[in-house]
Amino acid sequence: ILIAFIVFVLYMQETRERLFAGGVGFGIAYLAIGAALLRDHVAVQQRTRWLLASSFFLMSGGLLWLAFTAWFEPEAFLPTTGMASAAGPSLLAFYAVTICSSFAFILMHKERADRERYELATTDPLPGVYNRRTFKDLAEPNLTRSRRAHLPVSLLMLDLDHFKRTNDTFGHLAGDDVLKAFSELVRGCLRKDDLLARYGGEEFVILLPGTSQFAATALAERIREQTASKPLEAAGHRVRVTVSVGVATEAGDTLPSLESMLGRADEALYKAKADGRNRVV
Ligand code: GH3
Ligand code: MG
Ligand code: MG
Repeated sequence: ILIAFIVFVLYMQETRERLFAGGVGFGIAYLAIGAALLRDHVAVQQRTRWLLASSFFLMSGGLLWLAFTAWFEPEAFLPTTGMASAAGPSLLAFYAVTICSSFAFILMHKERADRERYELATTDPLPGVYNRRTFKDLAEPNLTRSRRAHLPVSLLMLDLDHFKRTNDTFGHLAGDDVLKAFSELVRGCLRKDDLLARYGGEEFVILLPGTSQFAATALAERIREQTASKPLEAAGHRVRVTVSVGVATEAGDTLPSLESMLGRADEALYKAKADGRNRVV
């Protein structure tokens, strides 16, 4: 805009020239923006993306039309005929643009707000971890599917050992960071279909669809081993923690109830704690 302004003032005094140069220049710019909106990954729904891109294309069309008329029908811009007669389609386009882009703008904000509210309602503050309620909502259909496919399903319950001590030693902020680092470590061990949720303060549950007791125990062992093997980075400290894990498996012939699986995993976890912690039962 600044460049156009300088060029207009210094080199283009004639209205016709200005309309042509401005129409072509900005028309192409709007076309490019519209194309970029369609091509690049923009985090909005398809309808909003098209609405927004369309408004840029309309704007581009209006500007190019203006440039075209200014150049090829200069008489349309004589004071006697008035500009509106030649620029009619352009003006129409500009009105439509105002409406389209306003709606697209509102839709984009609505979609963003929807996304944020969904995140808040379903996930824990720890990234990539569901909250307890969503875990139950998502786990039930998973159990039904596993039964129908005659597949086993396993559930792990994990609890960090002596976490109160960790807090007492390093402070609660470091404790929060440990939880974050731990949940990232766990996520790194899981597959796409596994459901990870925070069950309580320093307790996590994982539902493993289609996973046998053998495989679930191996996974639990891997998590336990990785946790114990190296300190976690937390608020400038290197904190060593260990985790105890209870494993429960349903073979896939009876419809497993989530409650009973949680109960059995919890019992196993208590046994792991009683047996000395840093172990899988
Ligand atoms: P155990 O090995 O028997 O599990 O011992 P523990 O100390 O981990 O168990 P306990 O349930 O007595 O204490 C859990 C502690 O976890 C208490 C609480 O201060 C801490 N905690 C729970 N949620 C959070 C959290 O979100 N952030 C931090 N920093 N600490 C938490
Ligand atoms: Mg604990
Ligand atoms: Mg606990």
